[in-house]
Amino acid sequence: MRFIEERKQIVEFGKMMIDKNLTKGSGGNISVFVRDEKLMLITPSGIDYYKIQLEDIVVMDLEGNVVEGDKKPSSEHSMHSIFYREREDVNAIVHFHSVYASVLATLQWELPATHYLIAVSGGDNVRCADYATFGTEELARNAFDAMKDRYVVFLANHGMLAGAKDLPNAFSKAEEIELCAEIYYRAKSIGEPKMLETAETDKLKRLFNNYGQVKSN
Ligand SMILES: [Zn+2]
Repeated sequence: MRFIEERKQIVEFGKMMIDKNLTKGSGGNISVFVRDEKLMLITPSGIDYYKIQLEDIVVMDLEGNVVEGDKKPSSEHSMHSIFYREREDVNAIVHFHSVYASVLATLQWELPATHYLIAVSGGDNVRCADYATFGTEELARNAFDAMKDRYVVFLANHGMLAGAKDLPNAFSKAEEIELCAEIYYRAKSIGEPKMLETAETDKLKRLFNNYGQVKSN
C-alpha cells in the first residue's frame, strides 16, 4: 500500500474532527494532495471516522478517477480536486459542518474582521460561497471562486472548507475560524461587534504569514 504517512495523517485528523466536536458521524471530509504524483488521498464516503482504516482512504487523480482503494470516495471530491488543480499553495483540505460556521453560512453571511484570528483566513473576512447542491461541480466552482486569496470559505446553507500547504495547517485554520464564528455569534447576540481597521488586518496578515503557521509534525 502506498502513501502510508498521508493515510495515517488523514485518519488521525478525522478522529480529531469528532473529538473536537467539529462534525458528527461521517459528516465532512479530508484530503491530502501528493503533488509529485498528482494524486489526492481522500476520506471514503459514509464511514464513521473512528472506523476508517488506512486502506479505506481512496487515492484519486484530479480528473475524478479512483486510482487505488475499493471504497467510494467522499461525494465532495470535486470540491477538493479543483483547489489542487488550480492553486499551488493548497495541498490539504478539510471540510465540515461545524455549528457556528454553519449558522453564519445558513444566514449566507460572511464572517467580518471582529477578532484578530480572522487573519488565519489569509484576509480580513471569510466569504460565503453561493449555494449549490452538495457533491456538484457547481458547488466546487462556487467554493473555489469565493475562496480567492483566502484559505477558508463558508458554503451557503452547508458548512465550511479550509485549505493550506499541509493538513495540520488546514485543520488549524478551520478550527480557528470556527472559534471566530462562535465569538462573532455570541458578541452579536448581546451587542454590535466592533470591526478591526483595515490597517490592523493588513498587519495581522503579515504577522500570520511569518509566525502563524502550525508545525507540520
Ligand atoms: Zn458537507
